[in-house]
Amino acid sequence: MVNGTCFFSMTCKLLMEKAGISPGKGNYMDKALMLLNNLYSQNSLSKQETVYLLENMTGNVEEKLFEYSDITRKKYFGNRIFMRGLVEFSNICRQDCLYCGIRCSNKNADRYRLSLDEIIECCKTGYQLGYRTFVLQSGEDSWYTLEKLSCLLKSIKHKFPDAAVTLSIGEKTKDEYRTLFYSGADRYLLRHETASKKLYSKLHPSMDYNNRIKCLYNLKEIGYQVGAGFMVGLPGQTGSELAEDLLFLKKLNPHMIGIGPFFPHSRTPLKNESGGSLEDTLKMIALTRLFIPDSLLPATTAIGTLHPKGRELALKAGANVVMPNISPVDTRVKYELYENKICTADRASHCRKCIENRINHAGFEIDMGRGDSPRKEKRAAAPF
Ligand code: SAH
Repeated sequence: MVNGTCFFSMTCKLLMEKAGISPGKGNYMDKALMLLNNLYSQNSLSKQETVYLLENMTGNVEEKLFEYSDITRKKYFGNRIFMRGLVEFSNICRQDCLYCGIRCSNKNADRYRLSLDEIIECCKTGYQLGYRTFVLQSGEDSWYTLEKLSCLLKSIKHKFPDAAVTLSIGEKTKDEYRTLFYSGADRYLLRHETASKKLYSKLHPSMDYNNRIKCLYNLKEIGYQVGAGFMVGLPGQTGSELAEDLLFLKKLNPHMIGIGPFFPHSRTPLKNESGGSLEDTLKMIALTRLFIPDSLLPATTAIGTLHPKGRELALKAGANVVMPNISPVDTRVKYELYENKICTADRASHCRKCIENRINHAGFEIDMGRGDSPRKEKRAAAPF
């Protein structure tokens, strides 16, 4: 005789098997596992469901999460990992983000600024090493006027027409973003840092959450491939706030998403806080891969700093981009968002080889192409 509960369980098990979902060792009616399965198949969950999943991530659910995120990355991008050459061109910043080592209040920071020619020289080195995306990142340094930046972009695009340029230089007006786009910038990285307005305001007392979010929407409207992202393990950050990050990203639907652990920098007001963990960061990367399956997700330098194999683990957890440094060696250590940053003493050619070996060892292949988002739209001609 078949008893009711048992019959139900058998049906459920059969359904799961049919869907190619292994019920795992534990109880296959586990709610967190069920939510994870829904996320895997539908790439979305409600806020309440996301919080539940985050707060009930037992060992077997976590194992499944990483399995699903790996399958999803493979489905959209195969085995290829995109490479970007990163130029950190100035650590001078007008902002005062509480967590950041280059905040304007850190009088101890050894400030530097590369000339336009020096930035172009970095791109040349990068181009010769095979990079076809240059990520130009800096603090919010007003020495680089709109005119200078436009000139720089035009020059890079003229010299390296088959390369993409990504800017990561903070908040600007929509008109300024538009000018930079039509001067040749293809992509823009601007992490939202945290989707919790309350936490954002605490960490950025003189900045406006609404403006940061508005900037991201402006960038999208203009036609950039846009990158948002957040830090994991920020002081006081809750599971509910991390769920907000995932849901905000789902709504914004950016092309790129940077996720890294928070590090307490000793010259900032957050020096006594504890930092983000490897496990939590990997979980957030994997969940992001499931929420926005076709996103370009870097295995960040920050996660590589947290653990010697951090970047490889991030790739296995769903990341598909790495951004080796092509800045001049003497400036690397000065671009100190957080301390003990890896790869500060290595030449660009060394970084390129080292990361290629690591990627290959982890079972992936490098892709030196531009690596545009699969969602990239054709660029319209300048309207002026
Ligand atoms: N001015 C640019 C670039 C900021 S630096 C901008 O506003 O976008 C790049 C990223 O480093 C930041 O967005 C932040 O998420 C990260 N970062 C800064 N300080 C950090 C710290 N102490 N620990 C971990 N990540 C940090």
